[in-house]
Amino acid sequence: MLMESKGDGYRRTPIKEGVFLKLKEIYNNIGIDKGISGWISDILSLYVMKHEFLKIYAPYLSYIAVHDNELYIKDNKIDKIVEITIRDNKIYCKYCERDNCIHAMYAIALLEIGKLTKYLKKDQ
Ligand SMILES: [Zn+2]
Repeated sequence: MLMESKGDGYRRTPIKEGVFLKLKEIYNNIGIDKGISGWISDILSLYVMKHEFLKIYAPYLSYIAVHDNELYIKDNKIDKIVEITIRDNKIYCKYCERDNCIHAMYAIALLEIGKLTKYLKKDQ
């Protein structure tokens, strides 16, 4: 959807109602002293900075996709697609057979890791 600027330094964009309500719930629970619009704008700004960080920190890695309980990362250093999954409630890299390799760290830094939330067991 087109996001026109009204010349005030802001652009307005629609957010799905369900997403907004979940954001509002988080916002209300963290007790931040700025408006929700500014807080959401800050989140998006942090996303942009995180994206730039990852491009410098691990320029040879890139996100491909999530399918079922696996997140796929392309590693251009080894020229392979690496599978990240949830094992014993931890991020697990099938290629390195570890939970603390660069692929696991990279996966944790991606917003898409949230798509694996449903494979985590609570209370562990
Ligand atoms: Zn790995």
